[in-house]
Parts: sequence; structure tokens; C-alpha cells
Amino acid sequence: MTDAPSYGFDTLQVHAGARPDPATGARQVPIYQTTAYVFRDAEHAAALFNLQEVGYIYSRLTNPTVAALQERIATLEGGVGGVCCSSGHAAQIMALFPLMQPGRNIVASSRLYGGTVTQFSQTIKRFGWSAKFVDFDDHAAVAAAIDDDTRAVFCEAIANPGGHITDLDAISAISDAAGIPLIVDNTSATPYLCRPIEHGATLVVHSTTKYLTGNGTVTGGCVVDSGKFDWRANDKFPSLSQPEPAYHGLTFAETFGPLAFTFHGIAIGLRDLGMTMNPQAAHYTLMGIETLSLRMDRHVQNAQTIAKWLQDDPRIDDVTYAGLDSSPYAHLVPKICPKGAGALFTIAVKGGYDACVKLVDSLEIFSHVANLGDTRSLVIHSASTTHRQLTADQQKAAGAGPNIVRLSIGIEDARDLIADLDQALTKAVG
Ligand SMILES: *Cc1c(COP(=O)(O)O)cnc(C)c1O
Repeated sequence: MTDAPSYGFDTLQVHAGARPDPATGARQVPIYQTTAYVFRDAEHAAALFNLQEVGYIYSRLTNPTVAALQERIATLEGGVGGVCCSSGHAAQIMALFPLMQPGRNIVASSRLYGGTVTQFSQTIKRFGWSAKFVDFDDHAAVAAAIDDDTRAVFCEAIANPGGHITDLDAISAISDAAGIPLIVDNTSATPYLCRPIEHGATLVVHSTTKYLTGNGTVTGGCVVDSGKFDWRANDKFPSLSQPEPAYHGLTFAETFGPLAFTFHGIAIGLRDLGMTMNPQAAHYTLMGIETLSLRMDRHVQNAQTIAKWLQDDPRIDDVTYAGLDSSPYAHLVPKICPKGAGALFTIAVKGGYDACVKLVDSLEIFSHVANLGDTRSLVIHSASTTHRQLTADQQKAAGAGPNIVRLSIGIEDARDLIADLDQALTKAVG
């Protein structure tokens, strides 16, 4: 089908990027399990390598199954192009790579997935990059943290682990004023609940491992480009705005216009970093995305019911769900994620660290795993697991203190989930 913008989300999640297979008529997107593609002739091969013609060369760069998924995610996000990668963490590096150089920094929210905090505070230093972590509720602090070497602002739309909502319009106004892109990790919200590009984001990154696949089968990631950033408006992004020595002097912004970032991601990012998604993973994620809106509606409905029940329970000190009227983020829900505040939140359990560990061990339907966004309900005690590498102060800033348990509410029967939480809280707290 042609991806006319008039199609609704439910139609696009099934059809965008997919056409009946030209060779066989196969209705479902085939898994193109191949490493390489035969060139028509030497001239065709040269045109492909020169990026004068778009086509398939080698599956580290492009693969038809992966391409269908890229187009589907980009369409759902309202972007012009997408590059899929081997994981969400790979997508984050792929998003930063064209923007950064040694000595440059990013300004990142202190409320991020634990692994992202580690990636940004430790690992990227090896590339000569650094991150400044700021409370993104404090807009003046975000603006003040941006300096001449800052090349991006990074946050999550619905932030892990607490489900706090970022005022993307306010943050994108700040990054716009500084002439740098806003990168939004939209993993917890998905494009069904939040469309960051409509709130000014330049790039959207995903861990497709989570809700987009939805069933906990494969890891993957994606970078979506809005196509709206003018890389040539200042001299901060030479890899996109100047002749790129890594691609025999091609100027990506001039040659590819709004698709510059996407082509750079494939032609240089995937070519040289090799963080490629494989076609099997793309297949599983394409299957999952077909039911995204149906699942997200149920995730939200269950999260709403369970968060309310927990809020009224005397064994719980606090519930961070932004879908509760009492949340300081409730006013942002209609603006940022009008279909609901997601299904990820934390609870503060009476009895601290020991009670949390007992709770996690006593749950029967909830699985104790380092994952989120599965059809199954999941639980984790962040302080002893995902946020273990963080200092006590970082844990607190990230909303992952010792008395905090993170819940990822699945699509099971809400009454069963409440009964499970009830029996486990009795064992843990009394
Ligand atoms: C899981 C996750 C990541 C990392 O994704 P992987 O696929 O595990 O590499 C990044 N951001 C958020 C919000 C996540 O939940």
C-alpha cells in the first residue's frame, strides 16, 4: 500500500512498509535470510556503492525484511526514515555517532533506563564523548547545562523506571534555541501513546525489544529521523553538513536532504559499526507491531486499575504512575501521551530493601526479569539489579532507591494480577 498520511494508526501498524512480495506474491513479509544480493551487472554494482541508486548490497547495510520494519516504525512515528539496529543500546550509539566527535557532550535526563545511564556516564567516555545529567523537570537547568560543545539533548518520553513524563515541547524549545537536536527514547511510550516528533523531537530511538515486539522474543533497536533538522544551519555537525571523508567526500545533507541522517546511519553507521538487526529479529518485531495499539490499550487499562489499587494499599508508601490524579505529572498526560501514561511505574514498599526482595520472590504471575514491555507482567527490584552499577545518589535521582520495585504491567486479567500482588505483599510486609 502507499503510506498515505490519511491512514489511521491501526491500519499503518499492519501495512506500512509491507507490500506483497514481488517475486512470489507472499502476503506476509518474507524473512529474506540472505547475506548478499546479486548485482544486475558491474554498472549496477557501482551505482549502488556510489549511493546513486538505492538497493541491496550486503545485509550488514540493508535487508528487505529489516527495511520493511524500518519503514513501518518510521511511519508510525511520523518520521522520514529509520535505521534498525541489533538492540536499543546500539540504536542510542547510532543516533549519537553522526553528531559527536571527541570533546563533545550531550545533556541527558537523570531519569533514564539504568543501562543508558551506564552507557552515557561510562562507556561513551572511551570515544571522548561525555554526558551531563540534569533533572529534566528543571527546564532552566537543562538550558544552563548546554554549552558550545553540546551536540544533543537526550531524554525518555515516559521515563524508566518511574513512568515520569517529560514535557517534550518545553525541552525541544530549549534544544531548538541552542541549534542542536533533541533525541527522545520512546521505548516505554511507543508511537501509539506518544509521538515525540509532533512535540519537536529531531530523532526518536527505540528498544524494539520491548513493546514494539511485545512478546519478549528478540532484542532490537531503531533510530527514526524526523527529517526536520537543518544540519547546515550551523557548523556543529560536519559529518552531515560537510564533505564526509568516510564516504569519499559525499556531503550527506546536500545529497540526501531530509534523508541525510538516515543515509548516513546506513552508509557509515551500519557499514562501520556493524550493529545490524538480523532479518529473523525484524520478522518477530513485524509480527508484534501488528497488534501494538490493541496491546497498549490493555496495558494502559490494567496499569490504571492496578496503580489505583496499590495507591490505596497501606503496605505501599508511594505509586509513581502518571495516570493517577495524584501524580505531579498527571497534567502532562493529555498533552504528551493522550491515550494513557503507559504501563511502567514504581512502588515504594514499606519495609525497604528486604521487603522488596521478599515481594519479588513471592510473586507468581509476575516474572522477575530485567525486561519490560512484555505481554507478561514483569517485576524487578532495580537497586539490586538494573541500577546496581549506579551510586546511591544516581539511584535516587533515577527513581530506583532501595525501597523501590518497578512493575511492567502486562495484558493478563487485572484481577489475577491484583490477587498476585496482594498475596506477595502479605508475605513481604504483612
Ligand atoms: C531496554 C531499554 C533500552 C535498551 O534497549 P536494549 O534493546 O535492551 O539494548 C533503552 N531504553 C529503554 C527505555 C529501555 O527500556
